[in-house]
Amino acid sequence: MKIAIYPGSFDPITNGHIDILNRALKIFDQVILLLAVNPNKISTFTLEDRKLMLKDIAKQYGSQKVIVDSTDGLTIRYAQSKAAIALVRGLRTVPDFEYEHDIFSGNQLIDANIEMVFFMAKQPHQIISSSLIKQLYLNQVDISTLVPHAVLPYFKKLKTNVKQ
Ligand code: ADP
Repeated sequence: MKIAIYPGSFDPITNGHIDILNRALKIFDQVILLLAVNPNKISTFTLEDRKLMLKDIAKQYGSQKVIVDSTDGLTIRYAQSKAAIALVRGLRTVPDFEYEHDIFSGNQLIDANIEMVFFMAKQPHQIISSSLIKQLYLNQVDISTLVPHAVLPYFKKLKTNVKQ
């Protein structure tokens, strides 16, 4: 079975992330949505809520196609522990490329057998980021076409104290 890990903050998961997930599922038998917990990064949604959002998404795919997990360690180490063959990431812009380039270099030093597979964001998703969506929400813009349906109730819970 070809397993890939799709790590991210998913704060919250957006339609851009979903597009990458769907494309990864054309190549891999199973994709693990991995909440990468970084104690130095302040998130808007709690780890618990982000996990619940991802689980809501995962259950829309067949059993075992999409799994949800979290780690506070290195994603490449997590990939090793699951015998995954690849880490999936999305690329929107040049800064994404530069950021991913550094991660790729680090990962190569740890385990060069695990591939990093990059999907270019498609046109409608290129401008979508979790931070932009939070900004729009704060400014009373309708975000319902930018995030999966399952995410909307979590925004309602937040009210106005959204951190970017
Ligand atoms: P991280 O903090 O690891 O960047 P994110 O949740 O912001 O976590 O993103 C996870 C991955 O998804 C990254 O590779 C990011 O570039 C990619 N990504 C985020 N939004 C989009 C989008 N709209 N289209 C394509 N890829 C995206």
